Amino acid sequence: MNAVDKIIDKAEQICLNRGTRLTAKRKQVLAGLIESNKALSAYELIDFCESHYGDTFSAMSVYRILEFLEEEGLAHRLNIANKYVACAHINCGHTHETPQFLICRECSKVREIRITPDAISNLKDNASDAGFMLVTPQFEMSCICKDCAPQQPNL
Ligand SMILES: [Zn+2]
Ligand SMILES: [Zn+2]
Ligand SMILES: [Zn+2]
Repeated sequence: MNAVDKIIDKAEQICLNRGTRLTAKRKQVLAGLIESNKALSAYELIDFCESHYGDTFSAMSVYRILEFLEEEGLAHRLNIANKYVACAHINCGHTHETPQFLICRECSKVREIRITPDAISNLKDNASDAGFMLVTPQFEMSCICKDCAPQQPNL
């Protein structure tokens, strides 16, 4: 069993435990997110599933499936550019609080990270001192990954 299948298996188990069902179509979409290994818009995901699995999805059904995956904590939506990523913690079986993301602006590779609650409350305080209220603790940081860094002459 390959790594993606293992994660899908685990995801199926998570859904069963929660009384929901990871249908074949939902599996396909989740596998697309895991396999692409980067943030994808719904339309990029449709293309990916079509070229990799020969499955055709309508935008409507992909959005519905993504919504399901989000609710089950199996995928996350990035507010920047309205893209989606598979949760990095499906396999470890623990739940997590609001995730934070490092996003490569060159290749759209995404790493899900966790910022300590202390650091977040610090940021909240700083924002509030400046007269702003933090509306989401989900931070999405624009980065350059190490694969893309050598091509950046200024780094
Ligand atoms: Zn996650
Ligand atoms: Zn984990
Ligand atoms: Zn990159």
